[in-house]
Amino acid sequence: MPVKCNTKCGRNAVLKRPKTGDALCKECFFWAFEQEVHQTITTANLFNPGDYVAIAASGGKDSTVLAYIMKLLNDRYNYGLKLVLLSVDEGITGYRDDSLETVKRNEQQYGIPLKILSYEELYGWTMDRIVEQAGRKNNCTFCGVFRRQALDRGATLLKVDKIVTGHNADDIAETVLMNILRGDIARLQRCTAIVTDSEGSIPRSKPFKYTYEKEIVMYAYFKKLDYFSTECIYSPNAYRGHARAFLKDLEKIRATAIIDVIHSGECLSVRDGVKLPTRTLCTRCGHISSQPVCKACVLLEGLNKGKPRLGIGKSSKVRERLGSNMSDLSGHDSLGSNMSDLSGHDSKTSVLTSMLEF
Ligand code: SF4
Ligand code: ZN
Repeated sequence: MPVKCNTKCGRNAVLKRPKTGDALCKECFFWAFEQEVHQTITTANLFNPGDYVAIAASGGKDSTVLAYIMKLLNDRYNYGLKLVLLSVDEGITGYRDDSLETVKRNEQQYGIPLKILSYEELYGWTMDRIVEQAGRKNNCTFCGVFRRQALDRGATLLKVDKIVTGHNADDIAETVLMNILRGDIARLQRCTAIVTDSEGSIPRSKPFKYTYEKEIVMYAYFKKLDYFSTECIYSPNAYRGHARAFLKDLEKIRATAIIDVIHSGECLSVRDGVKLPTRTLCTRCGHISSQPVCKACVLLEGLNKGKPRLGIGKSSKVRERLGSNMSDLSGHDSLGSNMSDLSGHDSKTSVLTSMLEF
């Protein structure tokens, strides 16, 4: 006997919603998913009519669903936004070149113009060459720092008002855990914010802040969206991988674990006396930085001098820790990648099988 959709629409259910456990038909799932994103956008006042918004697009599931839904909601609710896809080509042969082909098809499918910027043109280095010189250990640090700045530079070039990224609830919960485990108080403060907005920079927001990764995969699957699902050849970022695995284990026992961790992150307040970073402009490249010289410029200098470890690694972190207050970790980007590295990730989970069973 087929299970009926919980909304009493009369149709048969085809899936069990990970977030609520509801048995739903496709149409009711689409509606619930879209309404929740719309609610996130309106509750947080993410946009103003007339805004020019860049969608950070990697071709992966999160940003593909984001592009699709931004267009859909913009049309359905008359947000009045002008949209553009903004992609960063890190220069990873066999990964990014293929995923960018997907973004180019998305450009046609959704009728949203596309701008691609490459590390090669911005920094004179591709990730393939960086890995050749610096090895596989810290590749995600270079990549995350450069991508964050590349998106800002692309957005400035396009003169957009805002950037949206496909970070989902799982990504944010992982980042909360990672920042707790690293003792990175400054990032812990910032990482749950739906909008990151510092003076002089273009605001970035995360319309999928409360959207489960499993539901994004489901939505893309049932909508038959064209996305790229191969993992980066230089992955994994081991530290994030552990946080991810831990969270997935928790989620098996307690479906709300992801939202609970985000909620805890939002409620954590920094005690008095903890120095938070102040934003300034890099004296070399003029982009936003928490230090006189930004992390991208420090890393670039290391690469150009043949000393790729410059600015990377535990030793410099430990030195700085010893030389300053233990709790002041502001401005460190050194240990692995951070929130900034996520918009380009296609962390693959074959979760559909378990979700389609009642
Ligand atoms: Fe860059 Fe992500 Fe690949 Fe690391 S896993 S090298 S951050 S694309
Ligand atoms: Zn700089």
